Parts: sequence; structure tokens; C-alpha cells
Amino acid sequence: MALDGHCMCGVVTWTYSGDVTRNLVCHCADCQRATSAPFTAFLGMRPEQLRWTGEIRHYESSPNTFRGFCPSCGSRLYFRSDRWPHEIHVHAATMANPEDYLPDAQVFMPSRAKWLDRLPSITAHEGFQQQPSGHSPAETR
Ligand SMILES: [Zn+2]
Ligand SMILES: [Zn+2]
Repeated sequence: MALDGHCMCGVVTWTYSGDVTRNLVCHCADCQRATSAPFTAFLGMRPEQLRWTGEIRHYESSPNTFRGFCPSCGSRLYFRSDRWPHEIHVHAATMANPEDYLPDAQVFMPSRAKWLDRLPSITAHEGFQQQPSGHSPAETR
């Protein structure tokens, strides 16, 4: 399988040729903080079959656990830990074709954002919401 991706500004790119080891959505509190997003979608890859271009920095979010990002645009790129030395988790949102992503598991359910359940029942817009509803969430419940 061949996949490729890039950060928001395009300075960092990746290409992968190998089997995807996982397609998981993570709801853990660390990923929520690290990405400023309610959940994170990852592709598990074999490090030796993954090639990066461009400068990457990382943050050690817990001992021997590293979260890579582009220093130019801040896009999150990967999660890796010495606990799983034969696997690197690449953020699925950086895929050149993110619609190709098919998650098959979600993990750390106790910290899953409760408001995700609310999404199917609230108003949806094609683009940015032009006219705020003018109601507080309590009024529109
Ligand atoms: Zn970038
Ligand atoms: Zn996580």
C-alpha cells in the first residue's frame, strides 16, 4: 500500500509503502490537549517504510513518548513511543486524500468528548455559519 501526506503549509511531507498496522481514533486526554481537538485519527505505520521530508520538531508529552509537528505551520504529524518501537502513528488528517481514511477502532472511550453525541441533532451548514442563532445553548436545547 502506498500513501502520502503533508502538513498544512507543505514544508513537511511523508510517503509510506507498507501495510497500515492500525486505523484508530484516539479519545485520550493527551491527544485532546496535544491537538486542541476532541479526538485524533491515526494510521499505524512501520517506521522503516516511512519517509519524511522537511524539518520536524517534537514534544515529549510523557517520558519517551514524542509528538511531532511542523515548526512552520504547527500541524501535528505523528505520535511515537519507545513502548511501541516498531510502530509510528501518523495523523490521518495529514493524508493527501484524507477521505481515504477508514477507522476500524476507537480507544480511550472514557475520555471521549460527550458532546460528540450531540452533533447529529444540531444544525449543520454547508460553509461557515453566517448568522449566529442568537440563542445560548441553554435556550436551543
Ligand atoms: Zn507545515
Ligand atoms: Zn491519544
